[in-house]
Amino acid sequence: MSAKIIDGKKVADITMNLLKEDVENWVKAGFRRPFLKVVQVGNDPASTTYIGAKTRACQRVGIDTDTAHLPDTVSAKELKEAIKSFNEDPTVDGILVQLPLPSHLSAHDVIESIDHKKDVDGFHPMNVGRLTVDQPTFKSCTPAGIFELFNYYSIPVKSKHAVVVGASNIVGSPMAIMLSRENASGKATTTICHKFTKDLTSHTISADILVVAAGQPNLIKAEMIKEGAVVIDVGINRVADETTDKGYKLVGDCDYDAIKQKASWITPVPGGVGPMTVAMLMKNTLLAAKKSIYPLD
Ligand code: NAD
Repeated sequence: MSAKIIDGKKVADITMNLLKEDVENWVKAGFRRPFLKVVQVGNDPASTTYIGAKTRACQRVGIDTDTAHLPDTVSAKELKEAIKSFNEDPTVDGILVQLPLPSHLSAHDVIESIDHKKDVDGFHPMNVGRLTVDQPTFKSCTPAGIFELFNYYSIPVKSKHAVVVGASNIVGSPMAIMLSRENASGKATTTICHKFTKDLTSHTISADILVVAAGQPNLIKAEMIKEGAVVIDVGINRVADETTDKGYKLVGDCDYDAIKQKASWITPVPGGVGPMTVAMLMKNTLLAAKKSIYPLD
């Protein structure tokens, strides 16, 4: 079997075009253009790249944005004061603090200091909690983007065995929550694996849907998956490659070429999950501007 390719770039393009129309209709109806405030602490090159992609996405769909750039020496108090000012600014619809933060800052504390009604990343405990009880919420962008891909390609999820490798707060855990909810989108029987899981293959081999978000290149090999599985590779890893101008290439967590011969569907890296994550950030920002998740009292 040769897997069908899940083209995240194509689906993200379609999604972004629809969002652009939505934004323009919102503005034509007399409302202010949505505004996303990005906060960058320090100069991590990967963060700068990700913020560049998010800024370009905003420009493309017609969302206003700017980046507050704080030095990597900023104190927790100073950072939270800056976030408080954005929380209180009625012209700011969404706030995104680019992770990772320097080690002296607690991501948990910083995320909790964002007004949950502006938490367009969907990382605030209020939004994660609402996800676990099927309440309207800002869904974490990467799992939300993966569900858009399932929908676009009519990949059935209900009653399947889904296995998620990786249990982070931003990808693996919300993905497993969304897959497992019986009265919401997923309805799958869900197993979650992490670095303490013994005998990873004994779990991955039984997956109808395998979502891998571990940040470990080549972690999942063809012999670890079931014939015909749907394989969603979330990993983005830089590996050295002297044949490229940059000296590296991006790969996922799966042995793509070998798994492609065995899976029924597979996401490439790049061009799979990544573009959908950015599209879902745009969607959440528009939802925030429209007060769709948290209506005004
Ligand atoms: P993280 O480091 O916070 O979490 C990694 C998770 O993987 C942990 O739960 C850990 O226990 C688990 N893990 C690590 N090694 C493992 C192993 N050998 N076996 C089983 N589990 C293992 O990472 P994250 O923020 O969740 O990101 C994961 C990957 O996804 C990274 O490569 C990241 O760059 C990528 N990512 C991609 C997107 C996207 O849009 N495509 C978005 C976010 C993150």
